[in-house]
Amino acid sequence: MREKLIFDISRKGRKGYSLSGNHFPELPLESILPAKFLRTTPAELPEVSESEVVRHFVRLSNLNYHVDKNMYPLGSCTMKYNPKINDYTCDLPGFSALHPLQPGKTTQGALQLMYELAEMLREIAGMAAVTLQPAAGAHGELTGILLIKKYHESIGSKRHKLLVVDSAHGTNPASAALAGYEIISVKGNADGRTDLDDLRSKLDGDVAALMLTNPNTIGLFEKEIQLISKMVHDNGSLLYMDGANMNALLGIARPGDMGFDVMHYNLHKPFAAPHGGGGPGSGPVGVSEKLLPFLPVPVIVKEGDAYKLSYDRLESIGRMMNFYGNFAVLVRAYTYIRMLGPDGLRRVSENAIINANYLLSLLLERYDLPYPKTVLHEFCLSGDRQKKAHGVKTLDIAKRLLDYGFHAPTIYFPLIVSEALMIEPTETESKETLDVFARALLAIADEAETNPALLLSAPVTTPVKRLDDAMASRQLNICCAL
Ligand SMILES: *Cc1c(COP(=O)(O)O)cnc(C)c1O
Repeated sequence: MREKLIFDISRKGRKGYSLSGNHFPELPLESILPAKFLRTTPAELPEVSESEVVRHFVRLSNLNYHVDKNMYPLGSCTMKYNPKINDYTCDLPGFSALHPLQPGKTTQGALQLMYELAEMLREIAGMAAVTLQPAAGAHGELTGILLIKKYHESIGSKRHKLLVVDSAHGTNPASAALAGYEIISVKGNADGRTDLDDLRSKLDGDVAALMLTNPNTIGLFEKEIQLISKMVHDNGSLLYMDGANMNALLGIARPGDMGFDVMHYNLHKPFAAPHGGGGPGSGPVGVSEKLLPFLPVPVIVKEGDAYKLSYDRLESIGRMMNFYGNFAVLVRAYTYIRMLGPDGLRRVSENAIINANYLLSLLLERYDLPYPKTVLHEFCLSGDRQKKAHGVKTLDIAKRLLDYGFHAPTIYFPLIVSEALMIEPTETESKETLDVFARALLAIADEAETNPALLLSAPVTTPVKRLDDAMASRQLNICCAL
């Protein structure tokens, strides 16, 4: 029998929501909302039973692919497994039932958590201070660039160019453009790292900063980072670090020690908050001493044993977001860092590096690798060989992987590698999983030789077959178009 889910609102003495179990007293609805806003007739809700709802969503989640189901080798995205304890802590009523406008004396625990998280991130990257406000990596980039802009304004230096390396994530030039800068691209060398001669030739008096990703998007550490830092600073420019690849550095090396003045962290990458599907992220920004006065307000300060929000920064760039950042993501990252501790974080990066190099060693013979053979946490193969010899593109290889039960790697990025297949296994995958994944890619290399037509029509086993991407981007409402 179907159960009725309709809330009986005709009853006298009806009750409002209790925010979180028994932590708040239940109040009569009339005491919360004026009578004119209360329903007089029941809302029309679909009449479905709990079991039908549960089955519907479980069915959908089974059609979907997610990191709880299998490996997610999306290079640059650090799709690691997100421990369930992170969700447990952010669901604790003391965190989940907070209102952002609650008085500070009732939110001391939350403020303490944010204060301590910022301190831990500061220490991890060797910066002078950290703001937790930005809501994503790209938002952190914009924040960082606005800090750089304010710094130059404060010393009366007029600079309108930002240098961005050609292997950078697309958000780097996009954020720089949003902040009003002219973007100048810096080339990579044959080794896959920043070309110092090209950099030198572009560093002039108009350059506000250089944006670098270290290790870069093909998984290589900028060996000359100290020289680069000196060149940039001697030019009166600042050095920005895209910290999305911190999964290779935790406990091993610190951007602050390399000379970076500002960086963003992606808490939804190395620090194990879930991401994808446009969900909430978090892109804290760390700064060196000279950028401290410009940090967004409010800043969380500690006075004696008490924590408070301070707006006392005359030179601040202002707010980058309503309230204080995506708090639930901050709780997850805090849990993750405290759970692992300094030694655990270092093991994360060591194992991420070992996993990437192990996987690369299994694939090297059958796929091209345009850059050096030893990488950090990720690597970038090229499907050139398959394309030239058999007419099979990287897109076809990626689609065929779906038939083997794996999410595809990042493809066609970075732009400096043709037919790019960018793979980041992360530390949370076992050797067994890496072996199965490698076998799938090797089998696809065989298929490219023996049955290329199969790859061109892949995927053949998924609930949705190959989509017409061009049509999807031109005709947003596909259902009506068909
Ligand atoms: C993910 C990523 C970004 C952007 O971060 P979002 O949180 O997705 O906005 C920037 N740079 C690199 C290298 C990245 O991998």
